[in-house]
Amino acid sequence: MAQGLRLVLIGPPGAGKGTQAQLLREHVDLAHISSGDLFRHHLRQGTPLGLRAKEYMNRGELVPDEVTIDIILGKVMSIPDDDGFILDGFPRNRNQAQELDKKLTAESRNLDKVVHIDVSEPALLRRLGGRYICRACQSPHAIGLGEDASARTCDQCGGELYQRDDDAPAAVKKRIQVYNDETMPVLGFYRKRGVLVEVPGDDTIAEVNKQIMAAVDVPTARKL
Ligand code: ADP
Ligand code: ZN
Repeated sequence: MAQGLRLVLIGPPGAGKGTQAQLLREHVDLAHISSGDLFRHHLRQGTPLGLRAKEYMNRGELVPDEVTIDIILGKVMSIPDDDGFILDGFPRNRNQAQELDKKLTAESRNLDKVVHIDVSEPALLRRLGGRYICRACQSPHAIGLGEDASARTCDQCGGELYQRDDDAPAAVKKRIQVYNDETMPVLGFYRKRGVLVEVPGDDTIAEVNKQIMAAVDVPTARKL
């Protein structure tokens, strides 16, 4: 395979980063590294990392950098040189962005594009309230107002759907605030480097996917 794309998806909680990462992978062969999925995996397994991360996640705060950075950068740097990747949920503050940058630059594996999925706050609040995740494969599902979530199973694998603890209203408010205060400045960091692309994320999943594919130059024809 030709040299893979190295992408970062940045967007507020509920922007659809996980969904869009999965859709991109239907078109182009990329490793998907989701810091949130990784923490939730550890949480389920009850590992020391999971126990440490849990209190922060449930409050809607960032897991401390000294925990987060090593584990994510370890994953990124273990990807073979020529393979592409999508980072979803990392970096989430300036320090994480700088540490990622140092590692990648040292190996001349700079990021190709950083995609900012921009969604208005009312839309985020609406989405997070109806967001259910598959216990088995982690794919997110939207449950409409008044729809019975327990009657639904995962579209991908038939697994059980559940609502994340940090999708409770108080944690959602905190996550949006943390995003505005800590993650938004990362956009400026990448804008200066000329790798930032902006994609409006209020539209349908399919439309946002089209825009991201265009922004990162993945021709729709390049199906796997
Ligand atoms: P969302 O983007 O919907 O908030 P994620 O699944 O990306 O959800 O993250 C869930 C939680 O995991 C965050 O609120 C945070 O506590 C923790 N987390 C994920 N990525 C990071 C990161 N890069 N740095 C610190 N904490 C993180
Ligand atoms: Zn599933």
